[in-house]
Amino acid sequence: MNDLGVTVKKDEDFAEWYIQVVLKSNLLDYAPIKGFIVLKPYGYAIWERIREVADKRFKESGHQNAFLPTLIPESLLSKEAEHFEGFKPEVFWVTHAGNDELGERLALRPTSETLAYEIFSRWIRSYRDLPLKINFWNTALRAEIKSTKPLIRTSEFLWQEGHTVHASKEEAEDEARLMLSIYKEIIEEYLAIPVIAGYKSDKEKFVGADYTLTLEALMPDGRALQMGTSHNLGQNFSRPFNIKFLGKDGKEHYAWQTSWGISWRLIGALVMIHGDDKGLVLPPRIAPIQIVVVPIFYGDDSKHSVIDKCKNVYALLRDRFRVHLDDREEYTPGYKFNDWELKGVPLRVEIGPRDVKQGKVVLARRDDSRKVSVGDEELLDAVTNMLEDIQHSLYRRAYEFLKSHTFSTLTYDEFKEHIEHGFVRAYWCGSQECELRIKEETGADIRVIPFTDDSINDTDMLKEGGMMKKEQVRDGDEGDTRCIYCRRSAGKIAYFAKAY
Ligand SMILES: [Zn+2]
Repeated sequence: MNDLGVTVKKDEDFAEWYIQVVLKSNLLDYAPIKGFIVLKPYGYAIWERIREVADKRFKESGHQNAFLPTLIPESLLSKEAEHFEGFKPEVFWVTHAGNDELGERLALRPTSETLAYEIFSRWIRSYRDLPLKINFWNTALRAEIKSTKPLIRTSEFLWQEGHTVHASKEEAEDEARLMLSIYKEIIEEYLAIPVIAGYKSDKEKFVGADYTLTLEALMPDGRALQMGTSHNLGQNFSRPFNIKFLGKDGKEHYAWQTSWGISWRLIGALVMIHGDDKGLVLPPRIAPIQIVVVPIFYGDDSKHSVIDKCKNVYALLRDRFRVHLDDREEYTPGYKFNDWELKGVPLRVEIGPRDVKQGKVVLARRDDSRKVSVGDEELLDAVTNMLEDIQHSLYRRAYEFLKSHTFSTLTYDEFKEHIEHGFVRAYWCGSQECELRIKEETGADIRVIPFTDDSINDTDMLKEGGMMKKEQVRDGDEGDTRCIYCRRSAGKIAYFAKAY
């Protein structure tokens, strides 16, 4: 393949393969500032699709979009002490306005809790003002000094942050769960990426939250990637920010809050999980272009009839699908095939002179390279079915990978062996000391403590019995439920992994 294509194999040099794919498929470019990237139109189009799908779910569940400034005064950012300590090492500060030094430093938002809650405290007076459910589509800035990776770890990233205020603890709990389940639906059903849902450990939770709910996916190199989080903030912010309301009982109460977010990191996960040696492979439900129509003709004899048919097919598909007609004359069909394969378009329609004569078209799948010839009258049905099939095959493949790279173990020796290849599911006593020691010795974190009490975490894996029951690490191992590290009795099962 020429140097326009990807020149390394995914399973030979995964890190280099990833960089080549995101650059060569035109998703993004480097910025002239270290640690920052530019999202190009094709990459932005994928983000727009994610945003479109998520925004619809947010609005259906009663949330509204709003806008907040980028700058947060230091006095506000530091109002919740634990939160401030957590974010301080990565905050960018604005110290001057023109030539004048500011009286107070302003932070470029690392996240908006403090600014939003200062404002919310002015909006909320009584129970009638609740619940307040606001979402912001914006960017956050967190200085990444150590290692950066496009879309996965950058100093500024596109995301959404939802912030809600409730009258009761139960309502806030329900909200945190609801948003996690909405994220799960988007990630599994649109991005075709299976995830494990549950709690973060106290060590890994959002600074300032009572607890954090998370969705974790497994990348092809065996490392976990956090896909979305939803935080129950309890009253940890409403107290310092004085978000109080007059209840139905005529008394003043501090409100209960949540915040939650997903970022363009999801695009990074899409690339890693579904991509192959030829480049991106996009699931049809999220692909900005689902179908590309490519005319094939040699010389002028057949040109007009081929182009005419391509235009008809394009017009036929346009109402139902996101379709693109590649009628560029300066490139050969072979060049175009490579180009759209690199960009991961799920389905290609090829039309040549013989197809015109026979009343047929050729459909080529991106995911498995299969080609079929279908009659013009079957085209709509064939395309519809094939796109659905591609969507499900991609999920199925990712799911099989997750299943075959999730290991259950009772011994620390086995743990150390398996942790190089994926998730390890093991008993944990709940102590931060064991968690820290395991991190030091193996490089692995607790990624998620699965739910034991509800339906969100009834992932397909649990449903079909591909994994052990939630309460057990191994079938029949009820006897030995001791912590994988300290061998004291364990209350919890946790998924460990090395992570991005
Ligand atoms: Zn322990």
